[in-house]
Amino acid sequence: MTHRQAQDDRTDFPEGTVWLVGAGPGDPELLTCKALRLIRTASVVFHDALVGADVLALVHASARLVHVGKRSGRHSKAQEEIDRLIVKAARAGERVVRLKGGDPAIFGRATEEIDACRVAGVPVRICPGVTAASAAAASLGTSLTLRGLARKLTFITAHARAGEPLDMDWQSLADPQATLAVYMGKAAAPQVARRLIDAGMPGSTPVALVEGASLPDEKVLTTRLDHLPLVAATALGGGPALLLIGSCVAETCPATASTAAEADGQARNAEIGIHLIG
Ligand code: SAH
Repeated sequence: MTHRQAQDDRTDFPEGTVWLVGAGPGDPELLTCKALRLIRTASVVFHDALVGADVLALVHASARLVHVGKRSGRHSKAQEEIDRLIVKAARAGERVVRLKGGDPAIFGRATEEIDACRVAGVPVRICPGVTAASAAAASLGTSLTLRGLARKLTFITAHARAGEPLDMDWQSLADPQATLAVYMGKAAAPQVARRLIDAGMPGSTPVALVEGASLPDEKVLTTRLDHLPLVAATALGGGPALLLIGSCVAETCPATASTAAEADGQARNAEIGIHLIG
């Protein structure tokens, strides 16, 4: 690293500053150059459960790594506690990175942390990241928008408190000329499918389920909306998964089974309406 670069590293990251940094979907090569520089400059990195080991390995060896992850149903630290820790570290003169999966401004509770910093008079900035929907579309080999077919792209989260119904405008979400990207949608997949079909979306609408997009063990499945509950319940593992719903899913690169075993598995899966891609 040149002297000039080392200087620059600190101009936008003086001691006592907080950066909310997007770690991308998992593949370290999908970090932005800026995110990499910030995590190498930080003296402390507070990270989510979604940020994997390969990305964390890029943090400077002398920096403190603090896991503040929250996974659905298992809140290891309450949001207020995270806000408090970040502010405290900045006030102690640290260079603080708050590393979040994907893009920090998409379903990332960024507002709470920004507000906590502002109230405390701590300078806070955001470094965007590649969001899961972009990574999922790339894995699928499709475009999230299609000229004339998918003119609208909607990001929703299907995470609701246990036992509570998903309170959304399903009528407008059931738009056949749109792509719907559903974050945190694995558990709620049956409800999402039912509500969309009730609102008039055809059961034959193509759906992709992408688990661990951009990671070595990623899983890409395609099915139809009316088969989604079964597929979500039986074909996914324990990783983060995103649903893409709409005609863009039908426009994917053709799947090529690389081994006879995979081809056989695909044939069997086709019977219950699952297609494995990649
Ligand atoms: N800020 C993140 C989203 C956080 S919400 C972003 O911009 O991507 C967490 C949800 O994101 C997960 O439940 C899952 O739906 C989705 N997600 C995150 N990483 C993912 C990945 N690698 N593959 C598929 N979905 C992912």
